[in-house]
Amino acid sequence: MALIKGLGERLRALMALPRDDPRLLRAQYTALARQLPMMYFILVVNTWILVATHVHLAPLALTLVVPALLTAVSIWRTSYWWRRRGQMPDDQEIHASLLRTAVLSLPVAVGFAAWSLSLYPYGDDYARAHVAFYMAITVIGCIFSMMHLRCAALITSAVVDTAFILFFFNTGTPVLVACAVNILLVSVAMLVILNSHYNTFTRLVAEQARSEQLSDENLRLAHEDSLTGLPNRRQFFTALGQALERAQQDNTRLAVGILDLDGFKPINDLYGHSVGDSLLVQVGERLRALIDTRTQLARLGGDEFALIIERVESDAQLLAFGQMICQVLAVPITLTDVPVQIGASLGVTTYPDRAADAEQAFEFADYALYQSKRNHRGQVSVFSEQHQAQLERDILTEQALRRADLDAELAVVFQPIIALDGRGTVAFEALARWHSPHLGFVPPGQFISVAERIGMINQLTVPLLRKALATASQWPGDVRLSFNLSARDCGSPQAAQVLIDTIRASGFDPARLDLEITETAVMQDLQQVQLVIAMFREMGCGISLDDFGTGYSSLSQLHALALTKLKVDRSFVSDMHINPASFKIVKSLLALSADMQLDCIVEGVESAQELSALESLGAKLVQGYYFAKPMPAQQTLVWLETPLCEV
Ligand code: C2E
Ligand code: MG
Ligand code: MG
Repeated sequence: MALIKGLGERLRALMALPRDDPRLLRAQYTALARQLPMMYFILVVNTWILVATHVHLAPLALTLVVPALLTAVSIWRTSYWWRRRGQMPDDQEIHASLLRTAVLSLPVAVGFAAWSLSLYPYGDDYARAHVAFYMAITVIGCIFSMMHLRCAALITSAVVDTAFILFFFNTGTPVLVACAVNILLVSVAMLVILNSHYNTFTRLVAEQARSEQLSDENLRLAHEDSLTGLPNRRQFFTALGQALERAQQDNTRLAVGILDLDGFKPINDLYGHSVGDSLLVQVGERLRALIDTRTQLARLGGDEFALIIERVESDAQLLAFGQMICQVLAVPITLTDVPVQIGASLGVTTYPDRAADAEQAFEFADYALYQSKRNHRGQVSVFSEQHQAQLERDILTEQALRRADLDAELAVVFQPIIALDGRGTVAFEALARWHSPHLGFVPPGQFISVAERIGMINQLTVPLLRKALATASQWPGDVRLSFNLSARDCGSPQAAQVLIDTIRASGFDPARLDLEITETAVMQDLQQVQLVIAMFREMGCGISLDDFGTGYSSLSQLHALALTKLKVDRSFVSDMHINPASFKIVKSLLALSADMQLDCIVEGVESAQELSALESLGAKLVQGYYFAKPMPAQQTLVWLETPLCEV
């Protein structure tokens, strides 16, 4: 019983047409569309050859009517399959047509086998041998043609070969009995081969499916950022190219935005990379929640994200969207147990009115981002005409800087720092000046930022420091030198070591030197800056935090740095005597530095009113045009000898 059940199951498996494997069905369909017309051709030709050898022997019904009917069926099926060559209907239709073919194989096989055997009694020995040969050989051709549809091949073989073997065995004619035995053996061999071929075929199809799946997965991974699941940089540029093409075709505007987180690095350094990663994931989620179908989002790498916004209607709409993004990212994010505050700066440009192609769109958006970072952190900047002019200036500056003879073209000027307790000039701040033979005078605000961006600032700092130290060496021993460093100068111990060597080589007492570091530079890489500051402090230098109040540093971060002075940015000083907000800020910055037991220099004092307001707040050290503009090196000695009241 169990044996019968097992055999039944095995038979059902052999005859199955796997509806749940559409890929296999499609492969079977393609093979049959190619092979079945050929099979019917062989069948029809062989049939009519058999008719030819029996036409005068058998009745007309068997030599004309039945073969004509069988041929009609064959032509109908041939044209069905012929029309489907190279076509791929839907899965349901494929299944239906394979099923139909399998079902039809039974009447077709029965029809041809019965017809050929019905001719047997009419012929002589040769004609009978022809009937046997026709059946035996034609069925082999049919089975091979249908081997990709195993059930149809099995039905055909079962019908024709069984009929053949039984019929010819029963004839009792030794030659024909021998043929039946031959066919029996060949049939068994063919069934084994058919089965193994079919299994190989299904395995191949499955393997192909797996490898396609794998390559799809690889393709997806190659275009996806594994951390956030967003499209990656590569995919962003592909999508940008496609979006630009669409915009060009539909005559619409497109915007490209680049977004960079503010204050990400310190969090990464402070809490570790896994916290940094989960912060990026949350940022990705927040951004995802904001975008609609017109907008594509990508992570370019690090804490940089990008946006492609299609069908932009107005700048106002774009700006509002950008502002919303910045606002949403400014909401504190809870990571471990403490909420952390980061921000995001965004640079945006549009196509085709500003940028002309993908490369320019990226460059302009990046430049607008850079402007946001420098001037409006945490906000959106749309690439403007001024940006365009500034970018062109930057390119000229970059070219001239690369060609410059830095030692000859750079100079240092000095601005006195005054102690209000009557001691007069206690220090000079060294400020860089560049006179380019190609561009003329270039302000430091221009060339320093370009040099920082193109990685040339270290090459500028060394000659500037050397010149400043040479001048300062001529001053009395109680006059200090204050020298500005850029973020890159403090970005690595190697860069700092070059400066330490320069200071040592000058012979100037490091204890009389203050190095100014801006708050934004500190925030770029707190840990590195901390390390570098320690190196400078170890050799005796003071460290001033420049432009204090303009950055994003927190008190705990400032405490972590071994600072000696704070320099209140001049933006808070101008008009502080009439602007209560500025007055309050300066007051609290002075109180803060007193709390931290740090000296405080107030920059940018331009008027007597500002000075008296500062005096009323107890400011001790000041610097500004009210006392002196930056002066050339040779004038510093004259200045030092002139009493302050005569200035
Ligand atoms: P900073 O270090 O904050 O320098 C003060 C800037 O304010 C100087 O501009 C100075 O001329 C200007 N200033 C001083 N008093 C007044 C005032 O009363 N009113 C106004 N309106 N301005 C005043 P400068 O020389 O153009 O330098 C601009 C910035 O360029 C500097 O800001 C500093 O960040 C950078 N810089 C200058 N020299 C160097 C340098 O050698 N290395 C580096 N890395 N940066 C430098
Ligand atoms: Mg400074
Ligand atoms: Mg400053």
